[in-house]
Amino acid sequence: MAQIVLDNVTKLFGHVAAVNEVNLKIHDGEFFALLGPSGCGKTTTLRMIAGLETPTTGSIFINQRDVTELPPRVRDVAMVFQDYALYPHMTLLDNIGYPLKVRGVGHGELRARVTEAARSLNIDHLLDRRPSQLSGGQQQRAAVARAIVHHAQVFLFDEPLSNLDAKLRVEARGFLKYLQHELGVTTIYVTHDQAEAMALADRIAIMDQGRVIQVGAPLEVYRRPQTVFVAGFLGSPPMNLLTGRIDLAKKQILINCVGLSFEGFPCWNDLVQQAGDGEGLILGVRPEHITLYPEQTDFAFPGDVYVTQPLGAESLVNLQVGDEAVSVRLFTDEPPRLSGRIWIRPDPERIFFYRSSGELIATASS
Ligand code: ATP
Repeated sequence: MAQIVLDNVTKLFGHVAAVNEVNLKIHDGEFFALLGPSGCGKTTTLRMIAGLETPTTGSIFINQRDVTELPPRVRDVAMVFQDYALYPHMTLLDNIGYPLKVRGVGHGELRARVTEAARSLNIDHLLDRRPSQLSGGQQQRAAVARAIVHHAQVFLFDEPLSNLDAKLRVEARGFLKYLQHELGVTTIYVTHDQAEAMALADRIAIMDQGRVIQVGAPLEVYRRPQTVFVAGFLGSPPMNLLTGRIDLAKKQILINCVGLSFEGFPCWNDLVQQAGDGEGLILGVRPEHITLYPEQTDFAFPGDVYVTQPLGAESLVNLQVGDEAVSVRLFTDEPPRLSGRIWIRPDPERIFFYRSSGELIATASS
C-alpha cells in the first residue's frame, strides 16, 4: 500500500502543457479518480506516476520516496490500459502470469496465483484461450487479473471499462470497487465519465486543460462545485447554467431579460456584497431542483417546452428559456403531457451563483 504525492508537476509536449502545476496527495488505500474531458491531461498524469513519462518540472513521491526519475519497474505499480494491452500470441495463463514470470516466480506458484486471480474475476475456465478468442469484457477482466496477480502497491487504471457495453460496464464497476476495498490497494482511476468517477471513487480530482480544478469526495464536489466548469461537468444531465445580471434597484436578477424577484431571497445580501450592480452572473440550477407550474407563481419565470423524455422511473423535460436550453428532471414514471408555455421555479435554496469568469460567489445553502 502506498501514499502518492505530486508536487507541482508540469509536463510539456513542445509548447503544449499537457499537465500544468498539479499538486495532489493520494492517501494510502484510497480509490482516487482523475476526471475530466478528453485532452485535459488525465492519462499523462497517470503515465508520469507509472514512470512511462518524466515530468518537465516538479516531483512525484511514492511512500515519501522521490520516484520522479526512476523507471517503472522499481515503482511497484500495476497499470491497466484502455485497450487492455494483452499479448495476442499468448494464452490467458501466460498473459496474466507475465508480471510473475519476469519477477522469476516458479511455474507451480505462478499457475496457482494466476488461477486464484482469474477465479476472483470469473475467467479461470478461459486460461488456455488467446485474447482473440475472448469477448471484450473477458479481455478487460484478464487485464485486471494481470494487474492484481503480483500484489503491487499501486493500481493505475486508464479508462479500463470504456470498451464494454453499458450493462457489463456497470457490473465491472461494482466488481472493481469491491476488489479495491478487499485488497485495500491505493488506486488511481482515469475516466471522462462522471457517473463512473462518482460511483467508484473515495475522492475525485476534476481536471481541465492540464490543471486540477477541484478535489473532494464525490458528493462534496457534486453539492458544491467551485466553478462553472465543474458544475457543468458533474450530473446527468448536468447543472443548468443561465446567464443573467444583478439589478440592485429592482432587487432582481435578470435572466435573459426575464426578471426573477429576490424579495426575502436567502443569499441576496451575500450576493450584493460580493458582486456589484449590473454585474454579469451565471446561475446554476440542477435539473432535479426545478418545479414546473402551469401559471405564473412566485419566484418563477417562463419557458417553452419543446420535448419530454420518459426514462422509466423519471422523466426529463427540455425547455427553451429565452435563447437558453433548460432541462428539468421529474421523478415520476408517468410521462408528463406538457407543451407550450409553462413556468419554472428553481428551488431558491439550491441556486448557485457564479461570476461570468466562472468562480462561485454564493449559494443559498452556504
Ligand atoms: P483522453 O481522455 O482523450 O485520453 P486525457 O485527458 O487523458 O485525454 P492526455 O492524453 O493526457 O489527455 O493529453 C493531454 C494533452 O497533451 C492533449 O492536448 C494531448 O494532445 C497532448 N499530448 C499527450 N501526449 C502527447 C505526446 N506524446 N506528444 C504531444 N502531445 C501529447
